[in-house]
Amino acid sequence: MKSILASSLLLTSLFAISHPALAHDPTPAKPASAPAVPTKTPQWQDAKIDLAAFNRDLIHGPLTADIVLYVPTNFDAKFNKVSLPLMLDSLRHAKAIFRAADVQLRLKAVRIGAIDPRHLQINANPYPTIPDTEYINSYQTSQRHPTPLSDLAHEAFDTIIEPDTDNPRTIYLIALQDVFMPFIDPVDERNWTIKMVRTGGLSFPSYSYGTTIPNRLRGVMTITNLSTPNRLERTVAHELGHKLINVSHEYRTTDPAHEVRAEGGLMLYGNGTDIESGPAGRFHKERLHASPYLYRINAQGQKIWNADYQDGGHYYDPIYGQHVVHFSGAPSRNPDW
Ligand SMILES: [Zn+2]
Repeated sequence: MKSILASSLLLTSLFAISHPALAHDPTPAKPASAPAVPTKTPQWQDAKIDLAAFNRDLIHGPLTADIVLYVPTNFDAKFNKVSLPLMLDSLRHAKAIFRAADVQLRLKAVRIGAIDPRHLQINANPYPTIPDTEYINSYQTSQRHPTPLSDLAHEAFDTIIEPDTDNPRTIYLIALQDVFMPFIDPVDERNWTIKMVRTGGLSFPSYSYGTTIPNRLRGVMTITNLSTPNRLERTVAHELGHKLINVSHEYRTTDPAHEVRAEGGLMLYGNGTDIESGPAGRFHKERLHASPYLYRINAQGQKIWNADYQDGGHYYDPIYGQHVVHFSGAPSRNPDW
């Protein structure tokens, strides 16, 4: 009896040594994939930014989005693709682009601090497993099989984004060093391969991730490269386009695809910045104005939010009504495979 008690105590103390967080923390155990080293929660501080001056152009009336910047102070010495001044500059460009579509961007807070170094480089999602085929379009495939967030991305965002009642309605621009995204690329008529792209910005949009991102974190976007003039002028605006218009790379008669390089439209890779309306513009402006991340200030000074997604925020979510485009899946390279 004595020896059983002794070994039980020994086990308890060993457990306490190897899992200090679990021994003192009443929250449920983390999944098996969680790191052995407890995650560090950043000690965020307000950056010395004059928010009132940055937001001086805002007026009562137009639809507005609230944006919070998180900029780590412990980037590796060789990393120079993103900085707080570059984030603010890119956001200024985005303000002008969205103002032309009658939407204001309000800088709500700028937070700086050291983050867990493991979160400086993350993968956005695990390896995907189901390719797009010709039977349904890419938005319908995403609706059927939403992209899951990786465990590491989930952990990073949950640690970085501070709890707030407006979490699900706020856009969080997080500067990181590297966010890798694996995707499926067709090789021939019956083969696909997995590739991994290094992103300059990623918006974790609802048309792709659906409800796999917890509601509190769904406004997250990562920014990892603002080092060229084109990236500086367009990256934040383009990623905000994914999030707020809730579309992929598409423009006029160009159906969505993984990477489309062409001129015209904020949502292609090029120099375009326009957000067009009507069927010819694929209803981008109408979809933007329906975004649940937007609000208006009423006469009493209260925020009146747009309606929330009704079905998890996929491309055809009922909040968009008729402001959707029905198109076919990409044709097979060889229908007689
Ligand atoms: Zn994009």
